[in-house]
Amino acid sequence: MSIDEKLRVNAYLVHPRPHIQVDFNKCRKCPEKPCTKLCPAGCFRMLPDGSISFSHDACLECGTCRIVCRLGAVTWDYPEAGFGIWYRFG
Ligand code: SF4
Ligand code: SF4
Repeated sequence: MSIDEKLRVNAYLVHPRPHIQVDFNKCRKCPEKPCTKLCPAGCFRMLPDGSISFSHDACLECGTCRIVCRLGAVTWDYPEAGFGIWYRFG
C-alpha cells in the first residue's frame, strides 16, 4: 500500500475552530512561502495573486508548518480532544 493510499483511508472529525492560526500579514513578507511546498496535506495554498490560503480540514498534525515558518506566522496546537485526524495505518 502506498503512502497516498494509506493517507486516503484516514478519517477526520474537523473542529469548527482551527487548531492552527496563520498571520497572513507576515505571509505577505515571506519570500519563498515554504509551507505551500512542504505541508504534506496541502493545507497551505498559494493563490494566483501570491497570497496564502489555509484550511485545517485535512491537517495531519505533523507540525511541519510550525518548523518551516521562519517568520513566526504559525500559531500551532493540537485539536481539542476527540477532534482531528484518526490514523488508520500508523
Ligand atoms: S512559511 Fe510562514 S510566513 Fe511564509 S507563507 Fe507560510 S505561514 Fe506564511
Ligand atoms: S501540521 Fe502538517 S499537515 Fe497540518 S497544516 Fe501543518 S504542515 Fe500541514
